[in-house]
Amino acid sequence: MKQSKEHLDQLDLAHFWHPFTQMSEYADYDQLHVDHGLGCWVWDTEGNKYLDANASIWTNVHGHNDPDLNKVLIDQINKISHSTTLGISHEPGIRLAKKLADISPGSLNRVFYSDNGSNAVEIALKLSFQYWQLVGETKRTKVISMENAYHGDTFGTMGIGDSGVFHERFSNWCFPAIHFQSPKCVEVNEHVSSSSDIESLESLEKIFIKHADEIACLIIEPSVQGAAGMKFQPKGFLKKIELMCAEKRVHLIVDEVFTGFGRVGEMLVVHKEEVEPDFLCLAKGLTAGYLPLAATVAKDEIFDQFLGRFSEFKTFFHGHTFTGNPLGSVVALKSIEKLELLFNEGHLSETIAYLGNRLSEVFEDHPNVREIRQRGFCASIDLCPEGVADQEFPIEDRVGLKIAINARKHGLLLRPLANSILIVPPIVISKSEIDFLVENLKIALNSTL
Ligand code: PMP
Repeated sequence: MKQSKEHLDQLDLAHFWHPFTQMSEYADYDQLHVDHGLGCWVWDTEGNKYLDANASIWTNVHGHNDPDLNKVLIDQINKISHSTTLGISHEPGIRLAKKLADISPGSLNRVFYSDNGSNAVEIALKLSFQYWQLVGETKRTKVISMENAYHGDTFGTMGIGDSGVFHERFSNWCFPAIHFQSPKCVEVNEHVSSSSDIESLESLEKIFIKHADEIACLIIEPSVQGAAGMKFQPKGFLKKIELMCAEKRVHLIVDEVFTGFGRVGEMLVVHKEEVEPDFLCLAKGLTAGYLPLAATVAKDEIFDQFLGRFSEFKTFFHGHTFTGNPLGSVVALKSIEKLELLFNEGHLSETIAYLGNRLSEVFEDHPNVREIRQRGFCASIDLCPEGVADQEFPIEDRVGLKIAINARKHGLLLRPLANSILIVPPIVISKSEIDFLVENLKIALNSTL
């Protein structure tokens, strides 16, 4: 029997603790219960339709309810939904491991599965730490990460992150990373209005000098720091980091949890930047936003150091219950196959350019817009009080949230970050859907402010 909306609202408020949500504030707004989806759109239980402009928290690639993805899932469900990979294997997991090795650069041939982005990162960190112990360089224990980094919410990833208010409270329980300065790059539609990485690279060089042989690894979100509010790096920056890490014999961990699988217009940023890291972390778009599956891809040279007799205890003692889940694996394989077709067709670059043009056209001269940044299918519109670009709206005004809530009335699902509106649609968004997005966002913004 279908429950009434009011009844579900009551149950939701009584029992559901929502992530990254102030629950007292949540109770003040009309609740939205998503019922079903198709393409870039989702419908709520009352039949209202919304464009999914945050791709269900940056995961959706081919749209919702995709018939090809549905089919492989149904076929797999009719065989088996889950089987452990601890000591045994299954075809979907094997095929996906081969595919991920194929799309990863150079000797990144070993795939260690998990089930979310934070775990994919923690696994890379643990592999790096264990590697240095196994090769006898036991002083290499420290981690370098970039200012404003976000790699997840588990203790290891909070430690290496620099997300201020999100994680500060837990700093007593985290191992600290050494942060280097982030570069600056403001870009819309590949048009760079300001860019500099000199100070960033100098600050990294100083860390390398000071800590010489104590560094195990450097971790970076390549090209775009999503959770920091779509902060970009200049083209070629990742290559410079790779060269510095190689010179200092420091592992490079590239966290493509957000950027992978089309988000910035390529399968992976490491392709675009021609970089071969030691570890690659994948999640979110890996399963096109369908299921929780993540992967840490490591170089052969790293894997080889973990081999030996059991009694030497070189084994990597780590494994999550749903590691390498077959349903996640089949949907990831199908999604990658569909993405390869999309890249071959070459339409994505046109859509990306269209998104950049439309955002500039509609918001560039808006008196409440301080800055627009866009790269691939990631964009941020940073807001300010009318005509005063150097001022912020007070936090308690909740301007971003109010705009996002109001945008629902205009058919848009958005997730803001403080006073910025983040735009992260499914990769298959069409030009007419982009028109709908920018026009309705403008209406929501104007009617809120
Ligand atoms: N790394 C990056 C770059 C991310 O953006 C995120 C999540 N937004 C994570 C790691 C953590 O992923 P998850 O939420 O799946 O743990």
